[in-house]
Amino acid sequence: MQRTEILHWLQETDEARLEELWARADAVRAANVGDEVHLRGLIEISNFCVRQCAYCGINACSQGITRYRMPPAEILACAREAHRLGYGSVVMQSGEDPGLRAETIADIVREIKTTTPLAVTLSLGERDDDELKAWKAAGADRFLLRFETSDPALYDVIHPSLPGTLSDRMAQLDRMRAFGYEIGTGVMVGIPGQTWEILAQDIDTFRRYDMDMIGIGPFLPSPRTPLGGPDAASYLAPPDRQVPNDELTTLKAVALTRIVCPRSNIPSTTALATLDPKAGRELGLCRGANVVMPNVTPPEYRVLYEIYPGKACVHETAQVCHGCMEARIRSIGRTMGKGPGGRR
Ligand code: SAM
Repeated sequence: MQRTEILHWLQETDEARLEELWARADAVRAANVGDEVHLRGLIEISNFCVRQCAYCGINACSQGITRYRMPPAEILACAREAHRLGYGSVVMQSGEDPGLRAETIADIVREIKTTTPLAVTLSLGERDDDELKAWKAAGADRFLLRFETSDPALYDVIHPSLPGTLSDRMAQLDRMRAFGYEIGTGVMVGIPGQTWEILAQDIDTFRRYDMDMIGIGPFLPSPRTPLGGPDAASYLAPPDRQVPNDELTTLKAVALTRIVCPRSNIPSTTALATLDPKAGRELGLCRGANVVMPNVTPPEYRVLYEIYPGKACVHETAQVCHGCMEARIRSIGRTMGKGPGGRR
């Protein structure tokens, strides 16, 4: 599918035509990654962050948040819980937190890898090559770093550089692949300033980089941030060009991504479940996704990892999240994935 066709499908509104898109995406998913839904236990290990991402509720400038950094023993307990629940991997995610020392992360990764069969994914933002190599050597398997937008001008608007550093996320993704990581990336749908052309280019970029994992969720405004605050409208593209941050557009982006990246692992995201608590997870899985990321962070930390308000599953324990995910997966006739569920 060429970029012009992606662009056309993103703007398609005819329900009968969209049924064709859903059927095609689901068939590509079934043929290439099968009916298994892989579960990744998400551990939100720190909400400290040095960056000012204009969309993110835990950015460095966000006021009134209690910051936390989980002690290693508690992170390891979460990993053991994920294993006990039958998950094949864990994702350790945080703000960009230099207080998470490279040796500490390496020790945690090594301990998980030597005591469990779990695959370990890191999502810790932009880090030095020495750190990335040390974590790989300790046994880390995968790294998630969303490029957020493939448009350099929009990237600069939504990522003011200070007090963080200038970014080249694409270059880090390339280097991580060279270090042996499976690499994951993604974008938000409907971020202010995102045009239809930019979103089509984002999807084409997933294909060009042959990304192993691709997370796509709606942009959900956080009132703590410039893009969710009183001046948010000033960031919008003209109405006929601005992508809406709604469920339908997110599902189209997921379906098109599945079609152009048939073998990638694609989660049905928490942001989608937040937008549509009743059916968002299932709809994502029926329109191309093959992964879910149940939260195994202890609830007392989970409420503090507020990247946007009203996040799905915030008040549930890992056990409750697990039961809910399992029921949702079975309700659409799919099966729980076994093993680490790496890129085929
Ligand atoms: N610090 C790491 C990084 O930057 O890659 C990982 C944590 S960051 C909070 C994880 C992802 O949350 C981001 O890549 C972004 O796409 C998503 N996110 C942040 N704010 C959001 C919002 N307001 N709505 C939807 N997704 C958001």
